[in-house]
Amino acid sequence: MQNHSTDIIIIGGGLAGLVSAIHLSGSGLSVILIEKNEYPKHKVCGEYISNEVLPYLQALGADPLTTGAKKISRFLLSTTRGKTIETKLPLGGFGVSRFTLDHFLVQNALKNNATVLHDTVLDVLFENDAFRVSTKEGKELSAKIVIGAFGKRSNMDITLERAFIKNRSPFVGVKTHMQGDFPDDLVALHNFTGGYCGVSRVENGNLNVCYLANYKSFQQYKNIDAFNKQVLYNNPHLKTIFENSVPVFEQPLTISQVCFSDKTTVQDHILMCGDAAGMIHPLCGNGMAMAIHSAKIASELVIDYFDKKIKSRQELELLYNRQWNREFKKRINTGRILQTFFGKDNLARAIMYGITHVPGLLPAIIKQTHGKVLNVSDQ
Ligand SMILES: Cc1cc2nc3c(=O)[nH]c(=O)nc-3n(C[C@H](O)[C@H](O)[C@H](O)COP(=O)(O)OP(=O)(O)OC[C@H]3O[C@@H](n4cnc5c(N)ncnc54)[C@H](O)[C@@H]3O)c2cc1C
Repeated sequence: MQNHSTDIIIIGGGLAGLVSAIHLSGSGLSVILIEKNEYPKHKVCGEYISNEVLPYLQALGADPLTTGAKKISRFLLSTTRGKTIETKLPLGGFGVSRFTLDHFLVQNALKNNATVLHDTVLDVLFENDAFRVSTKEGKELSAKIVIGAFGKRSNMDITLERAFIKNRSPFVGVKTHMQGDFPDDLVALHNFTGGYCGVSRVENGNLNVCYLANYKSFQQYKNIDAFNKQVLYNNPHLKTIFENSVPVFEQPLTISQVCFSDKTTVQDHILMCGDAAGMIHPLCGNGMAMAIHSAKIASELVIDYFDKKIKSRQELELLYNRQWNREFKKRINTGRILQTFFGKDNLARAIMYGITHVPGLLPAIIKQTHGKVLNVSDQ
């Protein structure tokens, strides 16, 4: 594999990277995907995916419902004090753990003859209209196209000197799986002071309990259990869930430095995909669908580039940037506004008052943060 050359190298094998690998290798291009971790692996994620990407995944031959994913059609929102409102989800979605989903997708990429390497990319150089990619284990690979699908925060962001990496982020993410009572078809978003917690079921019947919290307030407690009891339990719904469910993980998973700053969609000629291009606030429950959708946009354009329907790299980059912004910019901005509202108790009360008194407002907000079902006629 030393000095191997290929059409496309994908850096990062989360949803954006894996779906790009399935799509591009399925169209006959040679693909090397480099992922630093082994599969299967648990990730901090709410694990609720909007149905907008379901027909696309099915058209790629990777139907996530075959994993036993739970169909979800209702959404329940509660205030920090436990006042609730429920609505039918305009498109609905499904619950599947990243442990199962990423593993399922990598099997599909391998079936399409994509090569998957477990290694960490350290550097990417662009010279003479081609890329050279070097890895921790000393591999040197070359490719005509590189897709950067390395997630929300990576060593690659430092290597590429991306501007956002200097911003300190105030958020920490915590996830666990639990066994307990909860409807199969519901996703709940329970607010607490300084954060919010999503609850929904995944394929094996476990409950995903995942929250994003303000790091400053999180830091003041001696451990996660103390934070849960003294902050989350003030919302009676969260108290009930935690007190009546049994944790499946020995310890919850945590991540820090969850950052929602603007990012570049193309940098050093690398097409950024998924969270590497921009991250929506998790309270919108749309990050995974956006990662998968951006993989579709990148893959279709890259195929057109290899088919010479797109004449130059400059045109490819311009089109990718334009389509990415058209699809996702507004959703990300709406997510930021919602986060500002839900992050402040008085504003959260005002928005909850509006939602409870104006019928149709909650589904309208959900629509603003989600896309339409992806068109797959050209698959
Ligand atoms: C607390 C929280 C809750 C969330 N809940 C939801 C939800 O319920 N629904 C939803 O739709 N979205 C949710 N999201 C968002 C969702 O998790 C992300 O949008 C999604 O995982 C993005 O996928 P990705 O492929 O871009 O990145 P990832 O899935 O993070 O994949 C990136 C991959 O790149 C690899 N990598 C990084 N650097 C390198 C390197 N140098 N070399 C090789 N590999 C590398 C990493 O190991 C990783 O596997 C949530 C996010 C958070 C933080």
